Amino acid sequence: MTDAAPPTPATPPGSCPRCDAQGLEAGYLVDTNGSGRFDMQWATGEPREALFGGVKASRDAWSVAGLRCTGCGRLELFATTPTTPR
Ligand SMILES: [Zn+2]
Repeated sequence: MTDAAPPTPATPPGSCPRCDAQGLEAGYLVDTNGSGRFDMQWATGEPREALFGGVKASRDAWSVAGLRCTGCGRLELFATTPTTPR
């Protein structure tokens, strides 16, 4: 590890924080229950139950990007973009 500042959501790391490999591969999470691509979001606070089940959508949510280390397989997730204009 270096003394560099921690990455911000807009600047994912250039190397793996676990094994220091340089090969971080961009990708996305897949819903294996059969509905295809799973667009993951990160939201602030605690989840709130929706009226008809599930979780109520948050007004403060961010799109999530995933990077996979080609050296050790570690996944790093980053909240990169607000889903609503700020
Ligand atoms: Zn690694």
